[in-house]
Amino acid sequence: MGEYLCREHFIEYFERRVYETIRHFQLIEEGDRVAVAVSGGKDSLTTLYLLTKFSKELKSEVFGVAVDEGIAGYREYKLQALSKLANDLGVKIFIGRFKDYFDMTLDEAVERLRGKGMKIKPCSVCGVFRRFIMNKMARELGATKLATGHNLDDEVQVFVMNALKAHIEGVEREGINSRTTGEGLVPRIKPLYLITEKEVLTYTLLKGIHTPFVECPYIVYALRHPIRHWINHVEDETPSFKYKVLALKELTRKLLPKPLEGAQRCLVCGEPSSRPVCKACLFRAYLDKDFEQRLIQKISLYEASTRLKSDF
Ligand code: SF4
Repeated sequence: MGEYLCREHFIEYFERRVYETIRHFQLIEEGDRVAVAVSGGKDSLTTLYLLTKFSKELKSEVFGVAVDEGIAGYREYKLQALSKLANDLGVKIFIGRFKDYFDMTLDEAVERLRGKGMKIKPCSVCGVFRRFIMNKMARELGATKLATGHNLDDEVQVFVMNALKAHIEGVEREGINSRTTGEGLVPRIKPLYLITEKEVLTYTLLKGIHTPFVECPYIVYALRHPIRHWINHVEDETPSFKYKVLALKELTRKLLPKPLEGAQRCLVCGEPSSRPVCKACLFRAYLDKDFEQRLIQKISLYEASTRLKSDF
């Protein structure tokens, strides 16, 4: 930004920037019913706060959807912060639990991952399960948009991780709004896409939006952890590095072909999926023997019926 602002002018600048981002990219349109994915962290609380504040002007409706992964000593504190803000704002929050959807908490899943040598990391399972629940809940609650609190730093970190893994599909998917559409998928939007983490932190401090400083115990297994430190280090040495990486990301996404419309349905759970069996079912089968058997039966049945159809 390159300017020094007092408290009032910073708040005004920040809110205007988010509002203009929403308008410019048409993230929210008149009549939208917006589900805000809230974790109880500063980014998602800020998103919930601002979308509620703008809802009258944008002629939209706002509510929150949260996921309780079952991470003892962490999630309960974040959910407390969320419940306080939601009460202050008078916004409804709906909570989905890993235990109810997948019959295991993340803590239990991590024990099983440890037993299998930790070849799959907790964040991979957590991210896939969370996206599954968020989309399903938002859709079932009639949301026309699903807003997340991803900020500029998150986007830069994910882009670098995807680039390092040559994960083109991931680069394509992670924009300011989702380009992938299909029955059962609620379009995702990211109102803080152009705002840095530091700016969000400053805003929450100035506005008194409180979240406890507890960190997920599984963050140490995430590739994102060292990448984040590296990017912050380079930014300190070379100011505006993050903006340049974001610009590179946008350029790359422009060059990539738009994904085909219409996700298919997972053979096992029936949720939208880009492959015959969705990732959530594959992870669940990896972690749960009974579910693995059910998955195998469904696939065998499907293959048998496909063979039958092709014989006639
Ligand atoms: Fe889930 Fe990883 Fe985030 Fe923890 S750090 S909440 S395991 S994604």
